Amino acid sequence: PLRAIVEDMSFFYADGTQALKNINMPILDRQITSMIGPSGCGKSTLLRCFNRMHDLYPGNRYSGKISLFPDGQNLVGSGTDPVMVRLRIGMVFQKPNPFPKSIYENVAAGLRVRGVNNRKVIDEAVEVALRRAAIWDEVKDRLHRSAYDMSGGQQQRLCIARALAPNPEILLLDEPTSALDPIATSKIEDLLAELGREITIVIVTHNMQQAARISSRTAFMYLGQLIEFGPTDQVFSRP
Ligand code: ADP
Ligand code: ADP
Repeated sequence: PLRAIVEDMSFFYADGTQALKNINMPILDRQITSMIGPSGCGKSTLLRCFNRMHDLYPGNRYSGKISLFPDGQNLVGSGTDPVMVRLRIGMVFQKPNPFPKSIYENVAAGLRVRGVNNRKVIDEAVEVALRRAAIWDEVKDRLHRSAYDMSGGQQQRLCIARALAPNPEILLLDEPTSALDPIATSKIEDLLAELGREITIVIVTHNMQQAARISSRTAFMYLGQLIEFGPTDQVFSRP
């Protein structure tokens, strides 16, 4: 089944640059979709449409639709509140960016924003999210230490836990391993492969092996257009 569908999506930066040209693409429920293509082809731009990040800068302009199911809300609709969109969509960036807070408070942050205050509820959600991000065993005895006292790979898994804690309907990751060493990278690939069984993930990567290893669908972009989309093994076997 579909989790979302991108329909005739175009995007213009404030300076007039058209970074996306009439993109049509399904996002399958509980699958990992990877976005690949040369630098500057529009991968990050498309990802940032899903959580209305572009709205943080005036003058950017969308056309087309991204419908999120089951209700079909148009995430880029002019009447859609970007803050509400961000409550439904989790995001992880290239560079780990934990808040200058404890490990616990980083994961709790998304729940607090949503008005969850019950200590027991938060404790449990923090543990569940840290387990899903495969970092619980490493941090369970130091939850109240600063997130900055961790390695880069641990910080990125913490950022994944932070994004997961409020149970987003889609998890977006923008080159989440390109700042990490191979061991940290493979830990994240393993945990994403596991998570992809239960939630919907869209990952931008410049690493073709990574796309081949973890994603069931691959979108190949070029100059703002979607050139290929399909099952990953088929996209990679084309001449
Ligand atoms: P990718 O993620 O595939 O490397 P991007 O989505 O970052 O590509 O960029 C797509 C296009 O949009 C590129 O031509 C890039 O130069 C342009 N672009 C990115 N950010 C901005 C911006 N803030 N203003 C104008 N053009 C931008
Ligand atoms: P505002 O009145 O502040 O522009 P809107 O709700 O109309 O608020 O738009 C919110 C954001 O959506 C704006 O930043 C705008 O760039 C962007 N936007 C512009 N055109 C469209 C469109 N056709 N569909 C969705 N969003 C759009």
